[in-house]
Amino acid sequence: MELQCQDILLDSLENGHMIVDDKFIVSFWNRWLSINTQISKEEIIGRSLEEIYPDLNYKVLGRKIKTALALGTPSFYDTNSSTKFISINRNKVTTSSLTFMQQQVTISPYIVSENKVMISIYDISELYETKLSLKKEIEKVNKLNDKLESDQEIIDKNIMMMKTSLNGVIIDVSTLFCEFFEYKKEDIIGQNASIFKSGNVAEATYKELWETIKSKKPWSGEVKNKTASGGAKWVQSRITPILDENGALFEFHAVYHDITNEKLLEELYITDSLTKLYNRAYFDKVIGSIAKHQRKADTDFVLAITDVDHFKSINDTYGHQVGDEALISVANTLKNSLRENDIIARWGGEEFVIMLKNVTLDEAKMIIEKVRKSVENSKVNNTISVTASFGLTKYNLGEDTHRTFKRVDDALYEAKKSGRNRIVVK
Ligand code: GH3
Ligand code: MG
Ligand code: MG
Repeated sequence: MELQCQDILLDSLENGHMIVDDKFIVSFWNRWLSINTQISKEEIIGRSLEEIYPDLNYKVLGRKIKTALALGTPSFYDTNSSTKFISINRNKVTTSSLTFMQQQVTISPYIVSENKVMISIYDISELYETKLSLKKEIEKVNKLNDKLESDQEIIDKNIMMMKTSLNGVIIDVSTLFCEFFEYKKEDIIGQNASIFKSGNVAEATYKELWETIKSKKPWSGEVKNKTASGGAKWVQSRITPILDENGALFEFHAVYHDITNEKLLEELYITDSLTKLYNRAYFDKVIGSIAKHQRKADTDFVLAITDVDHFKSINDTYGHQVGDEALISVANTLKNSLRENDIIARWGGEEFVIMLKNVTLDEAKMIIEKVRKSVENSKVNNTISVTASFGLTKYNLGEDTHRTFKRVDDALYEAKKSGRNRIVVK
């Protein structure tokens, strides 16, 4: 009676339960097993498992049964995808490629009879599948991470990049960036990006840069940056504002390209090699573009031309070398006594041209008078005095610049004729 009760209970379970003795003779086979193996109770009870399932590892099973009986505790029969306890085709329609049921098998001592055990088979296919797909997911994520890492490495080694906070504090820089500016990563992170300011970029450029990026727009431009050792490098810079999920400014990311060589060439092309002032070609270009575009702001300028007085006699008296030094000295005096955005160029020989921007003719005259005095007061090699004569004229809007040059030449000619070391305005 008790036994029957237990049979009914075991039959109702959604797992496989069989009772076998140490000779593998089956004395119970539950409904779940009948359904899933398509071997009925009648067929198997009283027969040995060995007859029905000759492929099972009976050495192992026998040992497990003995252990369970001897210790009185359940033991596990290890199964994996290749060695199932009992091959059961999965009767469920699943999307997985799993053909056979994954099983966990326990062998427990059977309380009712001393030399019998209950072998229970649990279907763990779904768990196995979950594990399998999880493993696949993890592999996918790992692969993606590997790819990201290698991409990151390529970027790090080949692209100059800097990330800053909204107030310009450096958060991250690429390896190439560090190499290029001769810094160690740990030395620049936390510093303000202004450490790269070389002093060669107009403050107006920085102002425009910050106004642009703070208004969430990217900024592109050429800047001359300082390296750790004090050298200068030109970079084409593109700064992109990064927004957070609410659209608020979050960080700035900048990417740079080295344009130092191009800039050096460009500089060489527009620089007078002796005085390091702009050369005539550059001045011609500036004047040419003003004449062409006729933008109001650009056309408001006074043109000045200066020629060193009796320069031939300096050459004749002290030699050509000293003559060169005198030209350098005059060039420096001009540069030091004029404003940063005035354009000074060597026009040829011992003649220089100056473009004074946004000044009236009277203001220009006062400025140039100071320049004239500076030239007069400076001494070449601390001994030789030089003077220079100046011609001055205002550019008239819409005028052909040849006319402007003609007027300023006439003015200089008059300054020379009327005694030198003076200014004539036309
Ligand atoms: P003025 O007051 O009329 O201008 O007299 P000047 O002697 O300055 O005029 P002139 O044009 O007769 O002489 C200019 C001299 O400048 C002639 C030329 O040998 C010299 N010169 C031109 N370029 C250079 C240069 O690069 N180096 C040196 N040392 N001398 C130069
Ligand atoms: Mg001359
Ligand atoms: Mg001269």
